[in-house]
Amino acid sequence: MSRYFYDLHLHSCLSPCADDDMTPSNIAGMASLCGLQLIALTDHNTCGNCGALLQACRQYGIVGVPGMELTTAEEIHLVCLFPGLVQAEEFERQVREHRLPIRNKPEIFGNQLFVDVDDNVVGEEPNLLIPATTLSLEEGTALALSCGGAAFPAHIDRPSNGIIGILGDLPERPFFPTVELNDRENREEYREKYGLQDRRMLCSSDAHHLWDIRDAANSIELDDEPYSSQRVRDVLIQLLREGMA
Ligand SMILES: [Zn+2]
Ligand SMILES: [Zn+2]
Repeated sequence: MSRYFYDLHLHSCLSPCADDDMTPSNIAGMASLCGLQLIALTDHNTCGNCGALLQACRQYGIVGVPGMELTTAEEIHLVCLFPGLVQAEEFERQVREHRLPIRNKPEIFGNQLFVDVDDNVVGEEPNLLIPATTLSLEEGTALALSCGGAAFPAHIDRPSNGIIGILGDLPERPFFPTVELNDRENREEYREKYGLQDRRMLCSSDAHHLWDIRDAANSIELDDEPYSSQRVRDVLIQLLREGMA
C-alpha cells in the first residue's frame, strides 16, 4: 500500500471558465511542485485534453487520471473518472450526443482550447461546454459505470451545482459511496448534518487557475503493487466503484 496525495478535480484550458495557461503540461508541473502524486483532469462535459494530461503526468513522474465533470440535466456537477483513455473517450462520445448545440462566444465565456503535451493549441471546441447536458443524474452515473468508470458528486458543500444545494440531500438512488468536498474544513459538519459517516469524502481543489492547485494535503491509500501507473488508476477506480449500483 502506498499513500498518494491527490487532486481529482482540475480544469484545463478546454473549460471556458479556466485560464488559458491551464495547459496539461502546466497542470502536471504545478501539481508535481505542490507534492501531488495523483491528479485527474475533469473539464466540463469533455475529456478532450485528457490524452495530453496523461502524457504530461508521465513526464513529471506522477499519475494522471482521465475524467470529466459532467453537468447533469438537474445542473448537478458529477466527477466521472476512468481507468484509461479508451473508457474516457467512449464516455465522451456518448455524452456529446447529450450536449446542447450552442456555439461558444469566446469573448464572453472564454476560450475552449485543445492543447497537446508541448502546449501547442491544436484546436478549439466550437460548442459551449458548460450548459447542462440532457443526461439525468441517474443516467449520467449509469453511463460512467457502463464505460468502466466511477462517479461522485462534486463540491457538495457549494450551493451552486452541488448535489445538496440542488436536491436538498443525497438521493438514495443512485447511491454514491464517495462524495467530494471543496473545503476540507466542512468535513465534520457535513458528516454529521447529512449522515455521511459511511461515505468516503474526497477533497479536491476544482482548480481553474494554476494558483488554485493546492499543496499536498489530501491523500488516499492504494494497493499499487506491483507498481505501474495503470495499476494505480485501476485500483483507484475499483475503490471508487465499490458500493455503486
Ligand atoms: Zn463544478
Ligand atoms: Zn469543476
